[in-house]
Amino acid sequence: MKPDYDVVIVGGGAAGLSAALYAVRSKLKTVILERFACGGQILNTSEIENYPGFPDGVTGPELSQLLERQVCKFGCAVIYDQAESMEVDGKVKVVHGSEGKYIGRALIIASGGEHNKLGVPGEEEMAGRGVSYCATCDGNFFANQDVVVVGGGDAAIDEGLYLTRIVDKVTVIHRRGQLRASKILQERAFASPKMEFKWNKVVEEIKGNNQGVDGLLLRDVKTNEKETFPTAGVFIYIGFHPNTEFLRGVVSMDNGGHLITNIRMETDVPGVFACGDVRQYSDRQLGTAVGDGITAALSAYRYITEER
Ligand code: NAP
Repeated sequence: MKPDYDVVIVGGGAAGLSAALYAVRSKLKTVILERFACGGQILNTSEIENYPGFPDGVTGPELSQLLERQVCKFGCAVIYDQAESMEVDGKVKVVHGSEGKYIGRALIIASGGEHNKLGVPGEEEMAGRGVSYCATCDGNFFANQDVVVVGGGDAAIDEGLYLTRIVDKVTVIHRRGQLRASKILQERAFASPKMEFKWNKVVEEIKGNNQGVDGLLLRDVKTNEKETFPTAGVFIYIGFHPNTEFLRGVVSMDNGGHLITNIRMETDVPGVFACGDVRQYSDRQLGTAVGDGITAALSAYRYITEER
């Protein structure tokens, strides 16, 4: 089979776009397959304040457009299609999309992942306006205010502790009477004077208006009693799932479905690289996704040029 491209990149988020930039500027014929719109998670981020080089911040949609324009300027193709399966055993790699087939010498998986959602009224409507899935990104918008963290795992407690350095008070809302988080994080959380807990409560609705969130409707799972809890910000940490269903049995992944790579972003399949939130131990930050993408492209370049 003759390859159509040097590099096929699955996913047009920050990691995929950064990989594409370095691939096309190395004169590799490159295509990005994106199922929805380039930008990935940053598309849902109103204000980005922690990306180096933007002292006044930048909106997620604006940065997405800039990144896409930059890769297209150097000749990268962007095709809107969803990867469904792939053949990676041979010298060329084949991605089967719902619209077509894409054959490359190397493959970069940058398909990202999604935070689990509560699925309650108000959550989608107020995402980025008081509803957040990233304390590192959005914590500063709530300086000296009271916020809520939903969840009882490591992420909820770790990020909740991070928030205590910025906000006045963090109330953890958990559906059981006991945390799932590791004991050391629990000890730190219980010792923090800025952290409080509401046990056995589930969020039934996120309330607010055009200005943002102003409270949560909570239900006690034991008594069924409801209460409105005022807050300006709600950070939801109830798990995260990488988009790797289409890769099961093809590339090695951990129990959570994250792709396993080394520091060169190489998976266990020669010629297949992974970068960004889809990979194990990702810090899930815009800056680290960009760095991962660049490393993946440089590794793909070395793989392709050494192969020739
Ligand atoms: P997790 O460990 O699966 O915890 C998810 C939490 O959300 C649980 O407390 C769960 O409640 C709760 N939850 C799930 N669905 C819910 C719903 N619909 N409504 C309300 N609550 C819900 O996920 P995670 O905290 O994102 O961590 C994922 C992995 O990353 C873990 O392996 C974790 O150890 C690792 N991690 C580690 C660190 C660290 O070590 N510093 C930091 C972040 C993440 P139940 O307890 O009742 O199931």
